[in-house]
Amino acid sequence: MESIDVLLVAQVLPYLEQELSKRYNLFRICDYPQKSQFLTQHGALIRAVVGNGSCGADSELIDALPNLEIVSSFSVGVDKIDLNKCKEKGICVTNTPDVLTDDVADLAIGLMLTLLRRICECDRFVRSGDWKHGDYKLTTKFSGKTVGIIGLGRIGTAIAKRAEGFNCSICYYSRTQKQEPKYKYYPNVVELASNCDILVVACSLTDETHHIINREVINALGPKGFLINIGRGKHVDEPELVSALLEGRLGGAGLDVFENEPHVPEELFGLENVVLLPHVGSGTVETRTAMADLVLGNLEAHFLGKPLLTPLV
Ligand code: NAP
Repeated sequence: MESIDVLLVAQVLPYLEQELSKRYNLFRICDYPQKSQFLTQHGALIRAVVGNGSCGADSELIDALPNLEIVSSFSVGVDKIDLNKCKEKGICVTNTPDVLTDDVADLAIGLMLTLLRRICECDRFVRSGDWKHGDYKLTTKFSGKTVGIIGLGRIGTAIAKRAEGFNCSICYYSRTQKQEPKYKYYPNVVELASNCDILVVACSLTDETHHIINREVINALGPKGFLINIGRGKHVDEPELVSALLEGRLGGAGLDVFENEPHVPEELFGLENVVLLPHVGSGTVETRTAMADLVLGNLEAHFLGKPLLTPLV
């Protein structure tokens, strides 16, 4: 398969990059300061694109690659891929579902515990020597809280199962009500936010879910409510979130993702009721390796004419 030309458009696990370059004729977009020059010179050769959750294949890139057959994403989220265009042109799309579900759900629970019990603040309290001057203030109990989940998909369900282990009640919002009588369904996000202590964003990013967390939802969650976002940054209207936190209209936020990564609103840095993570939901050695193997497996299946492992389009 060394004669197959593959374009890598994102920074991925070194193992994946090495394996791709062993198996294919690999072009890395980052090696070309002028993307347009690369596309004019080599665009017609490319049969596969490998991207990730931050960089995929938009309409412009797809148009510049007339022989593109497959886009394989090193992520489960495919909001950076123009899926309609791929469908139109008969281009296959694959992602990496399931293998990262546990890690992202673990991290969501970690964010809830860290935020409510102020674990990062407590750590800083000890390191700074402040403990010698008195005890740390009391925090908020996590066990038994009501957890509201937007998007009861693979990750949302895994979060719900974990939260049940902490005796939390689970409620959710998604486009359709699920066959899950233990979990209470709300037909819109504002009602969900009004009826939970912790609101978790776990849906996919689409035009419909862009800024699904807006001023109204934040106000419904309220000064005793907590927002957790392990979905995508663009699910949240970030300036609204920042002003709600600064004005005390929201109890706190645990965020793994941001609207304009790696840029994070600096107003958040001084707040003790936020936990800020650098988009590490699936960031373990085990999971990233499994994701890489899925990307490689999907490409191999495609070029051998076999069924794709995780086809989306
Ligand atoms: P999934 O199984 O496809 O679940 C997505 C859920 O989103 C579905 O349950 C769907 O429910 C819901 N949804 C879609 N459109 C909606 C809408 N308009 N309103 C409400 N809910 C809607 O995907 P997953 O594997 O759980 O992954 C979910 C997302 O997590 C990914 O798309 C990705 O963006 C994010 N993620 C983040 C990280 C990280 O590092 N932080 C890592 C992995 C994934 P209905 O069909 O019932 O509406």
